[in-house]
Amino acid sequence: MKKPELLSPAGNYEKMETAFHYGADAVYMGGELFNLRALADNFTNEQMSSAVLYAHSMGKKVYVTLNVIPHNREIDMMDEYIKFLSGLKVDGVIVSDLGVFDLVRSVSDIPISISTQASNTNWRSVKMFKEMGAKRVILAREVSLREMIQIRQRVPDIELEAFIHGAMCISISGRCLISNYLAQRDANMGLCTHSCRWKYYLMEEKRPGEYLPVFEDDHGTYILNSKDLCTIEFFDEVLDVGLDSLKIEGRIKGAFYNAVVTKTYRQAVDMYFRGDYAYNPFWMEELRSVSNRQFTSGFYLNPPDSDSQNYTTTSYFYTHQFVAKVLEKISSSEYILEIRNQVLQGEEVDLVRSTGENLTFFMPPMEDALTGEECETANTNRKVRIFKALDAVVGDMIRKKI
Ligand code: SF4
Repeated sequence: MKKPELLSPAGNYEKMETAFHYGADAVYMGGELFNLRALADNFTNEQMSSAVLYAHSMGKKVYVTLNVIPHNREIDMMDEYIKFLSGLKVDGVIVSDLGVFDLVRSVSDIPISISTQASNTNWRSVKMFKEMGAKRVILAREVSLREMIQIRQRVPDIELEAFIHGAMCISISGRCLISNYLAQRDANMGLCTHSCRWKYYLMEEKRPGEYLPVFEDDHGTYILNSKDLCTIEFFDEVLDVGLDSLKIEGRIKGAFYNAVVTKTYRQAVDMYFRGDYAYNPFWMEELRSVSNRQFTSGFYLNPPDSDSQNYTTTSYFYTHQFVAKVLEKISSSEYILEIRNQVLQGEEVDLVRSTGENLTFFMPPMEDALTGEECETANTNRKVRIFKALDAVVGDMIRKKI
């Protein structure tokens, strides 16, 4: 079986670099137009051009999202952009609309991935896209593991991609208008406000302003608040399917999230293909250490049920905080760090290496990288110099427990 690609989100340039640093084979990103994460930083044309060069210089791939559901106005604006992407030699575009599919085929030869928003849940629809010329189908999140196996067997000669980790929609992905109705923001144009996760009350028309709580339990009601997908506990079964690409969701999550999730799944994929796979409970600890809404197996094992919802809060859970990134390595025991969240001298922190085990240490004395002034506390955005034998490399991240 061919080793699948590990595909990580790249909401901006730093997140792309981080994904590659921590083991991604490929990233997916949106430009300033036509992608379903209009609220991510996204890439300007110049940034995208340099991102593709950067990725290709390392033998890695870049897929660009074009998965809006465009109306006439937007579709008529797309061909120049598609030609631009073709000139960059991106490795694929992610498309959900048939009009966009047709346009990409008529003005370029960019390989096309069919977006999860196209809701491919059966082998016939996958086969049809193959016959129409798609290179890859990204299966709907609503497909079970058993169905994935059947699709793989019945349509062997097309690339299949599936989400393995990240946020879930409470509706069929991309078939949702809650945000359009409640916030006039079109989810299918990348502007979803996640209205499904809002906390809802009832208001009686003759008593405006009086919000009547709807109790599902002692905490309130979060009827539409799905937990996040996590496949790590049965990941060997996911790998058994023979998928071509394993996708991590999260273009609007932080770079540190990308680092930890990518590294964890990288380790699991590599272990499986070395032939000595054994589930490591530490993987789950790692995935819980970064922003999550608690975990569900999504549709993989069983249809979602009441346990797939979070009823207590719409907030994120995490156990660790990103405190610094290695900006420069002067020597094996002297480093310049960029501080991302306050850290104190003497605090226990972990160096999250790009491969291998993390290293726990106490923050040594720090000095301002510009002035040389000693600082016991370093705040966000400050650059500090530390002297410590860490065996770190540029791009490694440092975290602390919270
Ligand atoms: S409102 Fe919720 S269910 Fe609808 S598209 Fe947005 S995240 Fe998905």
